[in-house]
Amino acid sequence: MTDKLPVLVTGGAGYIGSHAVLALADAGWPVAVIDNLVTGFRWAVPDTVPFYQGDIADEPLLARIFAEQGTRAIMHFAGSVVVPESVADPLKYYHNKTAKSRALIASAVAAGVPHMIFSSTAATYGVPDVPRVTEATPQVPINPYGMSKLMTEHMLADVARAHPLNYCALRYFNVAGADPAGRTGQSTAGATHLIKVAVEAALGKRGHVDIFGSDYATPDGTGVRDYIHVTDLAAAHVLALEALIAEPARSLTMNCGYGRGFSVLEVLDAVDRVTNRRIERRMQPRRAGDPDSLISDNGRIKATLPWVPRYDDLDTIVGHALAWERRLGEMGRG
Ligand code: UDP
Repeated sequence: MTDKLPVLVTGGAGYIGSHAVLALADAGWPVAVIDNLVTGFRWAVPDTVPFYQGDIADEPLLARIFAEQGTRAIMHFAGSVVVPESVADPLKYYHNKTAKSRALIASAVAAGVPHMIFSSTAATYGVPDVPRVTEATPQVPINPYGMSKLMTEHMLADVARAHPLNYCALRYFNVAGADPAGRTGQSTAGATHLIKVAVEAALGKRGHVDIFGSDYATPDGTGVRDYIHVTDLAAAHVLALEALIAEPARSLTMNCGYGRGFSVLEVLDAVDRVTNRRIERRMQPRRAGDPDSLISDNGRIKATLPWVPRYDDLDTIVGHALAWERRLGEMGRG
C-alpha cells in the first residue's frame, strides 16, 4: 500500500477531472480541486472536496493551495478540448494548454511537489499508419490541440530530468460514458463527441446524428475508434499515481484504451439497442483531419499497472452516457 498523499486536481469540475476526483475520494485520498469554471461546473465537485475557483497559471494562488492542502501530487486536466476550435484559434490553445501548463509545472517545481499526472491524448499521434498505436508510434499531431498536449509532454520530460519530480502522461483514446452511480458525467453544452451526440439524439435533444464519412478504409466505411469508459480511465489515474509514488525516479507514458475499435455505425446501433428506438442517421462528407481508425495497443499500461477495466463493453458505456443525459434533463441542465 502506498501512502495516500494529498492530490490537487486541475480541471476537477470538468468531465474527466470530476470522475478522477470521485475515484480519488472514493479510495480515501485527500483531494482538492482548482477549476476556473469556464467549461466546468461547481456542482460536479462534491461539497466535501476543497474547491478553489481560479487559474492554474496564478502562481501565488497555487502556492497558497499547496501550502493549505499540503499537496504532494497534481492531476492536471485543465484546458480546452475542442479540436476544430484549436484549428480556428491556435493561440488560445497554446495559451491555455501549453503556456498555462508551463506555469503550473513551475509552481509545482517551486513548491517541491514531487508527482504529476498529465492528461495527454491519442491526438498527439495524428493520423497513425498502424492498426494499433503503441507509445513508440511517432507523434505527429495534425492540429494545435494535439500539438499543445505534445508540447506539455516534452516540458514534463525535460523538467523531470532537471528537478525532483516524476510524471505520468496518459494518452487517452476516445473517452465516453459516465459515473455508474450517476454522480457526474459529460455536461458541457454543444457536444461534438459521437456518443454524447448520439445519446442526445436518442433523447430527442437533437433531431439526428450526422455520420462524417462512409468511405473510410474500415469494414463498414465509417470511422473506427477505441472508446474507453471514463470510470476505467479515472481508475487508471489513481493506479498511475500509486506507481509514481512507489518509484519516484521513474516517469511513465501510457496509452489509455481498451485495444479494440467500434465504427460510427456500431456505436449508433448500440444506442438504438439500449434505447429500443432508432436514431435518424444522415450521411455527410468526411470531417477534416479524422483518421480512418484509431485503436490503442494497451500492452504497456496492462504490463505496468494492475489495471483491470470494469466497463469494457459498448452497451454499458452507452447505457451510462444515456443515464447521465437523462439526469442532466431532470436537473434542468441538459
Ligand atoms: N462522428 C460522427 N458524427 C458525429 C461525431 C463524430 O460521425 O456527430 C465520428 C467522427 O468522424 C469519428 C468518430 O465519430 O470517426 C469519433 O469522433 P469524436 O468527435 O467523438 O472523437 P475524435 O475521435 O474525433 O476525438
